[in-house]
Amino acid sequence: DEMDVDTVWMDGEFVDWDEAQVHVLTHGLHYGSGVFEGVRCYDTEEGPAIFRWDEHLDRFYNSAKPYDMEIDHSREELTEATLELIERQDLESCYIRPIAFYGYNSLGVSPQDCPTQTAIACWPWGTYLGDEALENGVDVMVSSWRKHASSQIPTNAKTTGLYVNSMLAGEEARRNGYVEAIVLNKEGNVAEGPGENLFLVRDGTIHTPGFAESILDGITRQSVVTLARERGYDVDDSASISRGELYTADELFFTGTAAEITPIRSVDDTAIGTGERGPVTEELQSAFFDLVERRTDDHDEWFTHL
Ligand code: PMP
Repeated sequence: DEMDVDTVWMDGEFVDWDEAQVHVLTHGLHYGSGVFEGVRCYDTEEGPAIFRWDEHLDRFYNSAKPYDMEIDHSREELTEATLELIERQDLESCYIRPIAFYGYNSLGVSPQDCPTQTAIACWPWGTYLGDEALENGVDVMVSSWRKHASSQIPTNAKTTGLYVNSMLAGEEARRNGYVEAIVLNKEGNVAEGPGENLFLVRDGTIHTPGFAESILDGITRQSVVTLARERGYDVDDSASISRGELYTADELFFTGTAAEITPIRSVDDTAIGTGERGPVTEELQSAFFDLVERRTDDHDEWFTHL
């Protein structure tokens, strides 16, 4: 079992892996009516530390709002459950997956009297796009699938159903021999990756698509914007980026909880810059990893220690 999970927290209780089950007629399974988070806990010199837990919890509760979903567990309860899961399973670094979804009651699209179920699982997870990706960068293609417009579905909510679009784009890329996709929005501007935000460097300035481009408000994105500004970079975080600008960028990189900061070395077989990780990407990567592994005291407010 790749996920190596012994214990899951579910609806207020710790249950063994084989008891963490739902009925096949669960509303969320049929209609994608769930919200989730992906969080990383890093192995630091001071022990395990969860990166930006508060911001992930904010986004978790906010994602549920458009769906009238009541996550009836407090921040304190979810935090304690997560810390205990990490401790019980002796995890040092791990990925944390909170999820809430409409459960079993009826199968009308309206989730009438369907209970909201909530669960958290943690498991060890290495680099997302391959071990070499962080250093050498990844080859990506622009997907033929477009991202949903924020007028069609709230793209700032991390809703389970949204991820069939990510799956289509990512699998199209992998079928064609690429590691990942870049997804354009309905207007044809650059939005993001299937599970990553995108940054572009040109003439020493950093650009990343703004919220109006149908992106998820990525927490790694926010962190990288802050780290870059602290290092004196000019960052435009409400950019509108056309497809053509991708190919002529000096540097491109993805950010995300899973992908961390991953350089993009080519788009549609066109080398980006030198075709190797660029200097700005490298500087921000090393600032990021120094930070999350706590080799610096900076931004201690971003960490929840065990
Ligand atoms: N965009 C999408 C569509 C995502 O799924 C993710 C991963 N949560 C991101 C961006 C990056 O967000 P974060 O940095 O909060 O993980």
